[in-house]
Amino acid sequence: MSAFGSVFMPEMAISWFDGSNWSESKVVPSDSLNLHAGAHVLHYSSTCFEGLKAFRHEDGSVKIFRMDRNIARMAQSSELLALPKLDQEQAAQMITSIVARFASDVPEPPGSMYIRPTHIGTEPAIGKAAVPTLESCFYVLLSPVGDYFSGGDRALRLLIDDKNMRCPPHMGMVKSGGNYAGALQPTMKARAEFKADQVLFCPGGDVQETGAANFLLIDGDEIITKALDSTFLHGVTRDSILTLARDMGMKVSERQLSVDELLERAGKPGCEAALSGTAAVLTAVGTLIHNGKEYNVGNGGIGETTLKLRRALNDIQWGRSEDKFGWLRDI
Ligand SMILES: *Cc1c(COP(=O)(O)O)cnc(C)c1O
Repeated sequence: MSAFGSVFMPEMAISWFDGSNWSESKVVPSDSLNLHAGAHVLHYSSTCFEGLKAFRHEDGSVKIFRMDRNIARMAQSSELLALPKLDQEQAAQMITSIVARFASDVPEPPGSMYIRPTHIGTEPAIGKAAVPTLESCFYVLLSPVGDYFSGGDRALRLLIDDKNMRCPPHMGMVKSGGNYAGALQPTMKARAEFKADQVLFCPGGDVQETGAANFLLIDGDEIITKALDSTFLHGVTRDSILTLARDMGMKVSERQLSVDELLERAGKPGCEAALSGTAAVLTAVGTLIHNGKEYNVGNGGIGETTLKLRRALNDIQWGRSEDKFGWLRDI
């Protein structure tokens, strides 16, 4: 299996904003994006993206998971980046129709079709470092993916960074390219020095998230995770897992979690931690590394509750249990 996200469907849906209107959407080859080298996005990072999935069910139908959430988040990202206003209705139509076009390429579970809507500032204007782009482009790329964690029998190692931020606090809830480039050096350093898989950013000792996934602490019957604010990305998977947990009768505490409390709780038997995200679904965290010391979370392996919640989510996505929250939509 090739690396996640490195295989693309040959065509994508695309629409251009000319300063006043969005063009009618078109389907074009995925390698045919024509940009002026002075395009705003290439200089001033006026870009945001989304990640969602379409799943194949046993009856052959294809369903998209919580698309409304991703489109709303992209509209918000666009606004916070001063990109032109996204046409949400058109975006929804472009996503469903490009998935329908490639419906026969949607892999069987545990695979899926990863959908990557992207919105970029295209105005050729290198003098606009402090001025928004007037023109933009919205496109929807598709990438069939396997099980992101086919090696998912290993719990992750996270380096706790209690000094640095993943991104500026007002950019946390924006799914924008620059935030990821900025988190690369700390993450590479954590890999090289501590064999860590990811950095858990905890500025000022406040547990936030990793480079591309939300963090959940599962202590017995209770899930503890940071309450929504502007400093981190509001994951659709996070929301889905919390909804499922409440439905199972678990206690969900959305509140501040300090590094001290995290390390103290992590050591208790039965404690679990996990990362949530569209690609990762729910992935167990087995080890926390802080100030050169390693701490097991619970027994350091994959927790039962993590597996149970992950399965509950997958069962809905794959059509194996009732879609009781109305999360799936037809193409
Ligand atoms: C995309 C992303 C997540 C997870 O969001 P989902 O909607 O669950 O995929 C979490 N944190 C960051 C920084 C992200 O980019």
